[in-house]
Amino acid sequence: MDTESLEAYLAGLPGVGLKTARCVMMYALDRSVFPVDTHCMRLFVNLGLIDGRMRFEYAQDVLQNVVPVEIRKTLHVNVVAHGRETCVPRFEQCGRCVMADLCRNRR
Ligand code: SF4
Repeated sequence: MDTESLEAYLAGLPGVGLKTARCVMMYALDRSVFPVDTHCMRLFVNLGLIDGRMRFEYAQDVLQNVVPVEIRKTLHVNVVAHGRETCVPRFEQCGRCVMADLCRNRR
């Protein structure tokens, strides 16, 4: 199945949104997609790359379209790790963040 058809099929299943469909496609089926989860949203908003008012579903395509195919999985894995370990919701780890100089929400 081509990637577009696969995404439409998965995202059409009950309870499955575009982010979940793309996570399955990337991690289980080795497709070059970029799922935008809560860690991605928070980091890209903090870095000023997207507007925090952007709807989650809309951000899926906006960000996927600007992330080069060859780094999508690596970037996603690293952003999720950064979001879990450093860029946490209450900003307690900003002092050890390697992107602090680029961040507009550093505390
Ligand atoms: S400086 Fe803080 S808010 Fe900004 S990216 Fe780093 S951890 Fe996140």
